[in-house]
Amino acid sequence: MSSVALLDDRELTKPSSHRSMEGAVTTLLNAIGEDPDREGLLRTPERVAKSLAFLTSGADKTMADVLNGAVFTEDYDQMVLVKDIEFYSLCEHHMLPFFGKAHIAYLPAGRVVGLSKLPRLLEVYARRLQVQERLTQQVAWAIQEALRPRGVAVMLEAAHFCMMMRGVEKQNSKTVTSALLGEFRDSPALRGEFLSAVRGQAAH
Ligand code: ZN
Repeated sequence: MSSVALLDDRELTKPSSHRSMEGAVTTLLNAIGEDPDREGLLRTPERVAKSLAFLTSGADKTMADVLNGAVFTEDYDQMVLVKDIEFYSLCEHHMLPFFGKAHIAYLPAGRVVGLSKLPRLLEVYARRLQVQERLTQQVAWAIQEALRPRGVAVMLEAAHFCMMMRGVEKQNSKTVTSALLGEFRDSPALRGEFLSAVRGQAAH
């Protein structure tokens, strides 16, 4: 009896978007020939709605939410690189995950950002329906806008479930995208420095 009361409370505090997602999942379960009333699936619509809401929560956030108060004046003018940042996103064509590593670099021009903010910024753009190309550029542009640095370089290496589990069924292919702005775009030497740092070789 108490579990029924609990369920009702949850029902009342649920946003209407969650309720409509749950209804859609029940429809999907029926459409693939499942019985949404069997034990293992009873709470599946609720779980899927909750999980989807989280995985797309970046769409409600702005760069300002993330960088708030974390941009500092600093003379350091060499490359700042945070590499091997793991990320998870959802491809907008199939709503299946793509995931991998991001490498984010910039050349400061008087301003630096708290290092943990770069992975956070990536999450804001990754937690929504995406394509890898756009995700890469959005992260680069956001850093450009927030810091006005001399250059920004972003590289994403990802595996796509829509290629692994279906379609061409390629398990070991990696998709690599990059966005280069400012001096990283103009200078082959800087680009080389970024690439060798990403690959773990000392640049000098
Ligand atoms: Zn896809």
